[in-house]
Amino acid sequence: MSGRDSDILLLHVCCAPCASACVERLLAEERKIRLFFSNSNLCSEAEYSRRRESVRRLASLTRTELVEDPYDHASWHAAVSASLPGYARYPEGTERCRLCFSFSLGRAAEHARQNGMSFTTSLTVSPHKNSKLIFEVGSRWSFFEAVDFKKKDGFRRSIELSKQYGFYRQDFCGCEFSQKQRDVS
Ligand code: SF4
Repeated sequence: MSGRDSDILLLHVCCAPCASACVERLLAEERKIRLFFSNSNLCSEAEYSRRRESVRRLASLTRTELVEDPYDHASWHAAVSASLPGYARYPEGTERCRLCFSFSLGRAAEHARQNGMSFTTSLTVSPHKNSKLIFEVGSRWSFFEAVDFKKKDGFRRSIELSKQYGFYRQDFCGCEFSQKQRDVS
């Protein structure tokens, strides 16, 4: 791959708790990284801002570069609904999430492509997220690196680090449907 940033790996960041363990691991492996916070799936701008504040602190603590993708929930709805009418009724972990991953990874892929970079995602840290499905979506781009951050105790480490630094830890995935699912369970 050629381009000015070809030696940098772009890390799509879903939230600071998940990304904390990924950043620690990648820096330990001596990778050069750039964070890409992209979360148009979130239910509100307030939730986006809460998560972004912790991501900004993570970037500052680890001295990593951060790019913030502007919040655009309307485009997320349009993209998901175009492929999946009735998507609101789907529970977490189903087809709606595949389309959601596709939207967010697509935003990261576009930044990576424009800058000649490879990219990966912090989404794989969480035990609530199916890494195989994420890799399947990511395989659409030849410059996607399939890193399973659950491995090497990634999730446990993300909890430790987020407690240590006081990062905001949300108790639902992100969209209004997952929020509703949390409220009824
Ligand atoms: S539950 Fe999470 S992954 Fe699934 S559509 Fe909502 S925000 Fe996206």
